Amino acid sequence: MPDYQAPLRDLRFVMNEVLDYPGHYARLPGGEEATPDIVAAILEEGGRFAREVLLPLNQSGDQEGCRLEGGEVKTPRGFKDAYARYVEGGWPGLSAAVEHGGQGLPVSLGLALSEMICSSNLAWGMYPGLSHGAADALRHHGTESQKTTYLSKLVEGVWTGTMCLTEPHCGTDLGLIKTRAVPEGDDAYRITGTKIFISAGEHDLAENIVHLVLAKLPDAPEGSRGISLFVVPKFLPDADGNPGERNGVTCGSLEHKMGIHGNATCVMNFDDAKGYLVGPPHKGLACMFTMMNEARIGVGIQGLGLMEASYQNSLAYARDRLQMRALSGAKATDKPADPIIVHPDVRRMLLTQKSLAEGGRMLVMYTGQLVDLAGHATDAAERERAETLLGLLTPIVKAFLTELGFEATNEGLQVFGGHGFIQEWGMEQFVRDARITRLYEGTTGIQALDLLGRKVLMSQGETLKVFTKEIHKFCQANADNEVLKPFVEPLATLNAEWGELTLAVGMKAMNDREEVGAASVDYLLYSGYVTLAYLWARAVATAERALAEGTEDAAFYRAKRATADFYYQRLLPRTRAHAAMIRAGGESLMALDAEDFDLGFRL
Ligand SMILES: Cc1cc2nc3c(=O)[nH]c(=O)nc-3n(C[C@H](O)[C@H](O)[C@H](O)COP(=O)(O)OP(=O)(O)OC[C@H]3O[C@@H](n4cnc5c(N)ncnc54)[C@H](O)[C@@H]3O)c2cc1C
Repeated sequence: MPDYQAPLRDLRFVMNEVLDYPGHYARLPGGEEATPDIVAAILEEGGRFAREVLLPLNQSGDQEGCRLEGGEVKTPRGFKDAYARYVEGGWPGLSAAVEHGGQGLPVSLGLALSEMICSSNLAWGMYPGLSHGAADALRHHGTESQKTTYLSKLVEGVWTGTMCLTEPHCGTDLGLIKTRAVPEGDDAYRITGTKIFISAGEHDLAENIVHLVLAKLPDAPEGSRGISLFVVPKFLPDADGNPGERNGVTCGSLEHKMGIHGNATCVMNFDDAKGYLVGPPHKGLACMFTMMNEARIGVGIQGLGLMEASYQNSLAYARDRLQMRALSGAKATDKPADPIIVHPDVRRMLLTQKSLAEGGRMLVMYTGQLVDLAGHATDAAERERAETLLGLLTPIVKAFLTELGFEATNEGLQVFGGHGFIQEWGMEQFVRDARITRLYEGTTGIQALDLLGRKVLMSQGETLKVFTKEIHKFCQANADNEVLKPFVEPLATLNAEWGELTLAVGMKAMNDREEVGAASVDYLLYSGYVTLAYLWARAVATAERALAEGTEDAAFYRAKRATADFYYQRLLPRTRAHAAMIRAGGESLMALDAEDFDLGFRL
């Protein structure tokens, strides 16, 4: 069975040393409670919960899966008990507002905890995972009465939330949805339609499930401008706010799928279900975006969590497994062969995972600070800057960390050789579980369009400039530092090229809009590699400072430098290929007629 240890030392490095979280929390309105001691205690306790409670259920949950019995979903053995312990421990409300029964700690702290949950049991983590976003959508857009009815229950964790967008004929293009909402006279609506692929749509962990549903009113304009958001509970709350009458929403079937078997992916039938409008009519997509943006960061963290789990287990195997001798001569002379960690190619696979997981952790925690500031900074300019950067980085967190998460888990499996393909080691589960993260919450293609089209080009590059300026300042401030030169020089070059590539695509797009779609995924991956390069350069600067000042933990800081060297020398050159593909434009993509794609096998 795979093992997992929460990366507490690395989290301390990222939070306390690279990103100055103690200073960030001290300045953040409402962040004062998150003192270094409290943060350390919470992360330690969270790590223990992940390892002791969730990890033992990961493989069994995958093998057992969920069952639909008489309309009720039974989650795998142990899931319900683990959820009860999660609620008992007060985890669901960690970063929710005190006024709604939460602990009022910063959202960023919840993100660090989230990584541990994703590493130890991704499928389980998706039950509570959407409640936070559902609560947030209601907090921002709900009526006072909706807040009173639902928020404290969601925050406490006794009820869970879902997001119901997808229908059989539409996932990306929500303008096509058919689910209807008919006003009932009072403030209620009757919702009818079928939603598919609804994560945690039905389960036995909580006493009620609160569905946030996109539907169209009778007078809705065509397309995505005609979508409204509704809250539709499984049980209608009674006068005391407890689960009352059963609502007309049921699970029709469970999907049989490639991974995350422990999570119920449901077809949900809304049959004249009672629902209540959240936010203004026809503005549902904008309201749902509150939930979707948070969920997108959450899915990026899923990619990160799986990279870390895969890395830890493949490292243990690589130290243990004996095969062949090192090319330079035997290393473990007392053994019949050397452990495979001596072989350069195995090291390549390990360091790919390590540098992406540690880099990804910095990216998530950097983004966490932006989430905190966008929500709570008192200074309007600071809030606006954080919102801008958050908008830019959200598609990168989502798509880059899941694309690379899938690569990393595949490399982790590869370290095991044929044994990686065998179920009992658990490595193939990481790969299967990682595969969905590139798809849901908007595929990589859609995130890339959001980044390049909406965030960068629609702002005439201004959004990007906010970030590239920050990188430029870092490069300037460290330009004379000889030790940092191997990082700062290539980073400065790439940072400038990022702007040039943007301009080149923007110019082409003025004549042909397809150029945006042709460049977008390569542009997103390019952006991801440069963003991680910036954070790795900051990590090296921090590590070198610690080494220069003298430290008892020199091995840790030297390992940081070595991992950064690997990232810069072995992964960052991928930007050359992405830049070339961005510059190549869309001609070769669009040349072939759609009718001619099958010429090789047409009968
Ligand atoms: C296990 C699982 C759990 C899920 N959980 C939920 C959930 O809880 N709630 C929910 O509402 N949904 C959920 N989904 C649905 C998920 O978000 C969608 O599957 C996803 O957004 C893609 O939609 P689609 O499957 O309809 O693919 P399509 O939209 O049909 O896309 C097919 C392909 O075309 C590409 N494409 C489409 N349009 C464009 C375009 N304009 N430009 C470029 N490329 C394009 C896509 O990138 C994709 O590669 C879940 C799905 C799965 C499998």
